[in-house]
Amino acid sequence: MGITGRRNQEIYDVVGIGFGPSNLSLAIALDEHGASAPQHPVKAHFFERQPSFGWHRNMVLPSTTMQISFMKDLATFRNPMSRFTFISYLHASNRLVQFVNNQDFFPTRKEFHQYLEWAAAGLADRVTYGAEVTSIRPAAGSGDLSPDLLEVEVRGADGTTSVVTARNVAISTGLVPRLPEGVTADERVWHSSQFLGRFNAQSPDDLKSVAVVGAGQSAAEITRFLHDSLPHAQVRAIVPSYGYSVADDTPFANQVFDPTAVDDYYFGTDRGRDAFWRYHRNTNYSVVDADVIRDLYQRAYAEEVSGVKRLHFSNLTRVAEVRRAGSATQVVLRSLLDDRTEELSVDALVFATGYDGMDPARLLGDFDRHFQRDAAGRHRVERDYRLVPASDLTCGVYLQGGTEHSHGLSSSLLSNIAVRSGEIADSIMLRRTERELERDRPVEAAPPAA
Ligand SMILES: Cc1cc2nc3c(=O)[nH]c(=O)nc-3n(C[C@H](O)[C@H](O)[C@H](O)COP(=O)(O)OP(=O)(O)OC[C@H]3O[C@@H](n4cnc5c(N)ncnc54)[C@H](O)[C@@H]3O)c2cc1C
Repeated sequence: MGITGRRNQEIYDVVGIGFGPSNLSLAIALDEHGASAPQHPVKAHFFERQPSFGWHRNMVLPSTTMQISFMKDLATFRNPMSRFTFISYLHASNRLVQFVNNQDFFPTRKEFHQYLEWAAAGLADRVTYGAEVTSIRPAAGSGDLSPDLLEVEVRGADGTTSVVTARNVAISTGLVPRLPEGVTADERVWHSSQFLGRFNAQSPDDLKSVAVVGAGQSAAEITRFLHDSLPHAQVRAIVPSYGYSVADDTPFANQVFDPTAVDDYYFGTDRGRDAFWRYHRNTNYSVVDADVIRDLYQRAYAEEVSGVKRLHFSNLTRVAEVRRAGSATQVVLRSLLDDRTEELSVDALVFATGYDGMDPARLLGDFDRHFQRDAAGRHRVERDYRLVPASDLTCGVYLQGGTEHSHGLSSSLLSNIAVRSGEIADSIMLRRTERELERDRPVEAAPPAA
């Protein structure tokens, strides 16, 4: 479907906003629903602002691996028979046997990206690329808001806008890169989400001194990559902790990402939810895979032995200020140990300082006040990932992401997307059936007058 017309007359059962892994997985779940009821298929369409499918392309560094098992793919946990599983992809790529011989649960990010592209290509007629959704609003009814229809405004790559109408939307616009206050990205100061694009735009000879800020997986991976790719350069890791902490992916802790953990979190007490975060934040947040930590330490140690040091770690250190001076960047570092400052001149500075969660209010704008918030000001979300309306709205705004407070730790991750997408698809279908039953119910005759 193109988006050239001003207004598309069709009413979609669901419009998906963003076509990353979450909504790709939803497209698959809806497709499989449709296959089981071909006489009454789901009308769904997805809009993606990138010109083609891409999953964190700027962080597909050589040799980086997935942090989840290949079986936590787009479909397996919901439907292992799906034609969109990672195993189906391996089979279609003639690599299934070799993959098994390789005995590794964690494919490279490059291979997983290829899998996602392959799956997206299989559903190409369901998505419009180069199409950014700019707002969601209730459709106008008879002089008032229509309670069951939404209008989605879409801007195409050529700047034209169009409006599509849907009974439901699934917002899945992903994490939002975060820079420290006062820092602005430019051609020499990068957020990790821009990394490969920015790095490849430079001549390696111009990068003689580089620094990476952060203590998480991306920070450690970029530090390792720069050390490999710039053999002539000084590489400094600016780490706010005393050293990288290991990501706990041991089996008991890993259960926090199980589909059943969503119910435990959602229906649990505040104390229970708090315990999830207190005990298990180190499964994902500001932590690094053990093999990457060891690799970096061994590199540093080998340099100690050789006496030629170019990999440096500034621990318990924060960036106090960034100043641009021509092509060089001056960074003021402050030690948390003694509050002393140190000035560093670098040719590139990478902030691997994480992301903020997805916030649907950005797209809902004024419409957002029609949805309930809790005492802490966070959106109230049903178990089926639908925003709780404040009025009698019957249209559905579903979230894929931005539900850490209601559904737990896996909200922004891949771990649960197959099951979550299935739950959302089920909810959309169930509500459609209920609506149709309601519509078809015979009108009861009025009781005879006494
Ligand atoms: C480098 C990196 C590695 C990661 N590795 C893992 C991992 O190994 N395991 C794991 O579980 N999680 C991992 N994550 C977490 C990550 O959130 C998930 O992998 C995954 O990207 C979530 O999918 P998503 O579809 O919800 O969001 P995204 O992948 O971010 O997709 C959102 C999409 O929406 C599009 N979009 C945004 N706004 C609009 C708009 N207004 N209109 C139209 N389109 C829009 C974006 O272009 C994007 O394509 C990683 C994250 C990063 C940054």
